[in-house]
Amino acid sequence: MKQPITHCVLCGVALTPVRSFSRLLLRTLPDVLCATCHATFEPAASKEAIFTYNEAMQAWLNQYKILGDVLLAYSFAKELHAALAKGDIVVPIPLHPNKLAQRTFSQVALLLDCAEVPYVHYLQKVQDVTQGLRTRTERVASTNPFAVAPNADVSGKCFVVFDDIKTTGTTLQQARACLAEAGAKSVKTFTLCASEIK
Ligand SMILES: [Zn+2]
Repeated sequence: MKQPITHCVLCGVALTPVRSFSRLLLRTLPDVLCATCHATFEPAASKEAIFTYNEAMQAWLNQYKILGDVLLAYSFAKELHAALAKGDIVVPIPLHPNKLAQRTFSQVALLLDCAEVPYVHYLQKVQDVTQGLRTRTERVASTNPFAVAPNADVSGKCFVVFDDIKTTGTTLQQARACLAEAGAKSVKTFTLCASEIK
């Protein structure tokens, strides 16, 4: 972030400045949301997500992913850092190259970059399917759209696959299966938010 954020990126209210020496000492990540906006996001029931997919999260995801407001990537940096910078190798759910060209940024990897969470692209997306346009039955029945990246040695390693949102869980299951079949020792999954619909 070149310019420090001085106002909430959602509502525009002035943020309480953090004194720079304490930021250096504590290595705290920048706040970009005010406390009022932050409080509109509800904690998830599951330990495999930080937030529930509620109305505030739906609006946030739309502004971040669809409208491309990349400053929002810092919104939950502290929570993501605390949850993911722990030892298992973080593997972001990849975008298909066509989708990446269309969106211009990888929303999942950018969340990790802003949270200062190291990750490795052990997975590639080899099938270009838009999940939103398909029924749940079609999604579940489809073949695995992921593959282990060429020359990646995953055998005996512990991973946590990370995505921005869990809805049916199919994407995470497919990514987990891909790494497990290639010999991973363990594969956990984690998302920024999870839909409570079972
Ligand atoms: Zn705000």
